[in-house]
Amino acid sequence: MEHVTSRVGYYHAEPCQVPQLQRKSPETGTPHWWPKMENATRMHLIEFVPIFQQRVWGGRQLAEKLGRALPGNEPIGESWEIVDRPEAQSVCSRTGKTLRELLETDGNAIMGPGHDPERPFPILVKWLDCRDRLSLQVHPPATVAKRLGGEPKTECWYLADTTPNAALIVGLRRGVTRQQFEQAIEEETLEPLLHRFPVQPGESILLESGRLHAIDAGNLILEIQQNSDTTYRVYDWGRKGLDGKPRQLHVEQSLQSIDFTDFEPAITPASEAPGEITLAECAEFRIRRFNLAAGQQIPADRTQAMIFSVVRGEMYSGDAGARYRSGTNLLAPRAWTGFIEALTDSTVLVTDRFG
Ligand SMILES: [Zn+2]
Repeated sequence: MEHVTSRVGYYHAEPCQVPQLQRKSPETGTPHWWPKMENATRMHLIEFVPIFQQRVWGGRQLAEKLGRALPGNEPIGESWEIVDRPEAQSVCSRTGKTLRELLETDGNAIMGPGHDPERPFPILVKWLDCRDRLSLQVHPPATVAKRLGGEPKTECWYLADTTPNAALIVGLRRGVTRQQFEQAIEEETLEPLLHRFPVQPGESILLESGRLHAIDAGNLILEIQQNSDTTYRVYDWGRKGLDGKPRQLHVEQSLQSIDFTDFEPAITPASEAPGEITLAECAEFRIRRFNLAAGQQIPADRTQAMIFSVVRGEMYSGDAGARYRSGTNLLAPRAWTGFIEALTDSTVLVTDRFG
């Protein structure tokens, strides 16, 4: 088994075949396999090469706050951390294998027995650096998505860093009706009807399909979402695109998708108090936040795959001797048997139950 340290001193893991340990039985003296493993494939944590996306609303915070080596000087809005889609594939940092290839060759070890190798990895993880306000959007709930030929998308936002005036727009102001909403779209006076609120680093919110949302300026966000790409743009604040024309809106599809009973939803408060809380629990995934003191560990689950997102501090991988700084996202295969340990006070988001 070979452990490799990259240029920046961080370990990049990969699945690998290791020989099972052989030792002699004390009673019979005959060799037997120990420890007993379900199969011969033992897996490490998998880290992927980030896929950076230039966006007009983006910035350089992925470099400033997370120490990422960004290309050029252009505004980078997104870093796709874990993705298995036809238009984008995460590549394992060390082996160069795509996530799709890994699922085709090691699907059972990564996801569990009976995994369908054709099935896309169910979760998409992105960093978003939003320096300007994004358009107002909605993703269709499953029933509506089927009718409209799209895919539902439930997502969770964790606010890793915010400017003093940063805000989010989620849901409607209490009492706003569908009729008022439709009229305000036509008259381009929608903003007062929306629930806009200031945000702080460490807060988070779950956005199930059907929840109206926009990210306002000044947010560095970790977005953990269903692997899907159907977004309906409801409203663009009366702005023009780079070509001087308004960007395309999907008002009809949006009106069918929006939950008009979703008034002033609450955000989950930030906390660095030691311990574990559940940030999001829905049909598609669960996300827990672990606040760890130096030396505390999160062990392998062994019954399911997990995603670790280090959002504060620095973690250490016990089996590989690797270090993972804030901003790192890792796929922990079901067959992984190690642990990660906090080197300093740290916060890790653990996403699971997505199998
Ligand atoms: Zn969205």
